[in-house]
Amino acid sequence: MKRSTLLALPPADLARSVVALGEKPFRAKQLWRWFYQRYETDFDAMTDLSKPARALFKERYHPLLPQQVRVEASRRDPSRKFLFRFADGESAEAVFMAHEDRTTLCLSTQTGCPLGCAFCLTGRRPGRNLTPDELVGQFLSLVRGMAGERVNVVFMGMGEPLLNVEHLAAALPFLYETVSPKRVTVSTAGVLKGIAALGRVRPLPRLALSLNAGTDATRRALMPVHTYTMRELFEAMLAYPRKPGERITLEYVLIKGVNDTDAELGALFDLLKPHRRVFKVNLIPYNAVPDLPYEEPEEARVDAVGRMLARREITVTVRRSLGRDIRAACGQLAGEGLGPP
Ligand code: SF4
Repeated sequence: MKRSTLLALPPADLARSVVALGEKPFRAKQLWRWFYQRYETDFDAMTDLSKPARALFKERYHPLLPQQVRVEASRRDPSRKFLFRFADGESAEAVFMAHEDRTTLCLSTQTGCPLGCAFCLTGRRPGRNLTPDELVGQFLSLVRGMAGERVNVVFMGMGEPLLNVEHLAAALPFLYETVSPKRVTVSTAGVLKGIAALGRVRPLPRLALSLNAGTDATRRALMPVHTYTMRELFEAMLAYPRKPGERITLEYVLIKGVNDTDAELGALFDLLKPHRRVFKVNLIPYNAVPDLPYEEPEEARVDAVGRMLARREITVTVRRSLGRDIRAACGQLAGEGLGPP
């Protein structure tokens, strides 16, 4: 059941909701500042609202944020994984990752994923699209208390963002209130129509591609979305508008014996060779999960792959995932234990 909310409403709609409660339109500006600039969604903490106004909003619109059902903190690093439940009982996970020099929030766009990538737990339940207020609510839950701090946002959690472009585009302006579009990245498995649709959104977020293979055959086996060719996929990525010098990130989850072989990486290199200045590769060692038949690559192999690409003048980083012990890494978010499958 969908409930009404004040979140993710454009200014005119927010003012209409406020006036409908018998409050003055300027209250909408106050709420806007509290929500999107100060990250405060507790009406009791909104000190420039009169007490009766606070009580009225609370009575009508509390709680604003999705229910936080579970928080798991990593014992190895400062990452935390959150499980949210929405009004209809569906759930999704999001991850808070504190790096030395920045904080990254990894948000979900769906409560499962219909794309069914072979290595991904999320892909085992189709789920539904998150609505703009659920997307914004997820963001505000994670950034609470962080007003003024610099955060990066990646839509790389549960679901395929480009199957939910409309809601995503509606949610982005609320994040842009404090987060620069160049710090917002949308990661796709390669939904070609969605890449073109996102390219029409302004301001434009960054785009990343979860590539995970060098050949059509391997990509098709791992990612059923790959019903086209690598050439078509690269054409779609290259057509995405970007600023001069801005690179497109290719994520490559390295799976032992599947996509870390010399043959697969040779094919990857051939693909990247003409576009060395456009793409950068992010190598992510796979995190094995008990229910799936894939293995993590050895550390030495990960380093060797990184060195091999670097030698061939491809910009490459190795991302050893935070939150390994809380299953917060790529493809491991499952929205476990809650909501309809
Ligand atoms: S890897 Fe991404 S696109 Fe593939 S099933 Fe998982 S969530 Fe969906």
